[in-house]
Amino acid sequence: MSRQTIEAAVSAAEKLNDTLNAFLEIDRKAANRADGTSGPLSGVPIAIKDNLCVVGMQTSCGSRILGDYHPPYNATVTQRLIDAGAIIIGKTNCDEFAMGSSNENSAFGPVKNPWDTTRVSGGSSGGSAAAVAAGIVPVALGSDTGGSVRQPTSLCGVLGLKPTYGRNSRYGLVAFASSLDQVGVSSREVADMGRVLGVIAGRDTHDQTCADVPVPDYVATLSEDIKGLRLGLPSALFGKGLDDEVAKSVKEAVEVYRELGAEIVEVDLPNAGYAIAVYYIIATAEASSNLARFDGVRYGFRAEDAPELRQMYRKTREEGFGPEVKRRIMLGTYVLSAGYYEAYYRKAQQVRTLIKNDFLNAFKSCDAIITPTAPTPAFRLGEKVDDPLAMYLNDIYTVTANLAGVPGLSVPCGLSSERLPIGLQLLGPNWSEPTLLRLAHQYLQVRPFNERPPVSATYLDSLTEK
Ligand code: GLN
Repeated sequence: MSRQTIEAAVSAAEKLNDTLNAFLEIDRKAANRADGTSGPLSGVPIAIKDNLCVVGMQTSCGSRILGDYHPPYNATVTQRLIDAGAIIIGKTNCDEFAMGSSNENSAFGPVKNPWDTTRVSGGSSGGSAAAVAAGIVPVALGSDTGGSVRQPTSLCGVLGLKPTYGRNSRYGLVAFASSLDQVGVSSREVADMGRVLGVIAGRDTHDQTCADVPVPDYVATLSEDIKGLRLGLPSALFGKGLDDEVAKSVKEAVEVYRELGAEIVEVDLPNAGYAIAVYYIIATAEASSNLARFDGVRYGFRAEDAPELRQMYRKTREEGFGPEVKRRIMLGTYVLSAGYYEAYYRKAQQVRTLIKNDFLNAFKSCDAIITPTAPTPAFRLGEKVDDPLAMYLNDIYTVTANLAGVPGLSVPCGLSSERLPIGLQLLGPNWSEPTLLRLAHQYLQVRPFNERPPVSATYLDSLTEK
C-alpha cells in the first residue's frame, strides 16, 4: 500500500513538473524506502524545500552558487520525519535563498500556480505549496522568514503554518535571516499539519534558539469547540491596497467564526505600518552576514579563470548569485555600515520591539487575530518582477509574525471571481499553535475548501482513465 502511495506521488511529481516546475529534484527510487517503515508518519510522501538538508539529495536553495551541493547531514526536521517513517520524495523549488514573494527569483525558473499556470505560485516556498495544492504530496516543508510558507499556500489554496520562533529546529535549514527564519508546514488537511508539526517540533541540542517547550498533541484538541474564544479583528489593516474580493472573503470568515461562537473584538496594531520597512532592513542585514559564507571555497560553485583569491571571491559571487540576492546583500551591508547602523539597523530593531509589544497588548484582549494572508490573489508571472517595492508589499500581512516571533497560519477561505484561491491568516501568542489549528479545523468543518486546481494529480488520473 505504502509503496504504491510513494510511486503515485513520484509519478505525479514527474508528470506535473514540466507544467509546474515545483520540484528541483525528484527521488525516483523513493518507493524502495517505503517497505517496512514504521512510526506516526509511516509511508507518508513528503516534499522538502530545497533549503533544508536531506542526505542523498541536493540542497541548492534555488541558487547557482550552491551548484550541486549535497549536504553530509540531515536537517533536524528532516531526520525527525524520516525517523517517523515519512518518505521524502523530492526537493522543491524556491526563490533563491528564500528571498521573494512570487518564486520568480529561483535560478531554475519560476513555479507556476496549479490554479492558473500563467500566474505565480507565491514565494518563497512556492514549490512546496504547489506540490501540495496539486495533490502530489499531502504535506511539504518550507521555511518562513517573512511569510514564505503562508503567502504561497494562500495563493495556492492550501494550509500554511509558520510556527512560533523556536518551535522547530533550524539546524540544517540554510540561513537567510536567523532571527526570523522558522521551518513551516504546508498541507491540505489540518490534522496532517498537526501530525507533522508534532513530529518535527521540539528541543534540539544542535540549535540553541530551539526552545525547550513541551510538544503537545496537536491533533487531540482539534475538535474542541471554539465557543467563547476571542478573535481580534484589526480593522485598520483592511484598508488601502487590499483587494476587494480578498477583504470580502476574510470578512465573511469573521462572520463564520461569530456563528461558531467566537467573540469578535476590535484590536489595534498601531505599528504594523512600519513592518515592511523594518523587515526589509533586518532581513537584509542578517542575510548580508549569513551569505558571506558563499565564497567559492566552502561550498558548490567556484568561478573559473580567477587565479587570484579576491578575484575568485568576487567572480564567484557575481556569477553565483542572482539579482535579488545581490540587491539584498548590498542593502544589508549598507544598513549595517558605520554611520548608517544607528539610522537604519538600530532604529529598525527598536521598532521591531514596538511591533512585538503591539502583539503582546493585542493578545491581552483576544486569543488570536484574523487578517488576510496576502493582499491579492495570485498575480501574473512577470507582473511585479521589475518593481521590487511592489513585490515587497505582498508581505504586508505576514512579516509582523516573524518580527514578533508569534505563530501564523494561513487557511483557504474562498475563490476569487477568476477562480484563484484566497487565504485568511490567524495569528496567535507564542506556543498557541493548538488554538490556531483548532480555529482552522473548526472553520473548515463548516466552510470546507474542497475545490481542486485544474492542474493536479487527480487531473492526471482522469487522463489515464480515459
Ligand atoms: N517575501 C519575503 C522576502 O522576500 C519573505 C521571504 C521568506 O519568508 N523567506 O523576504
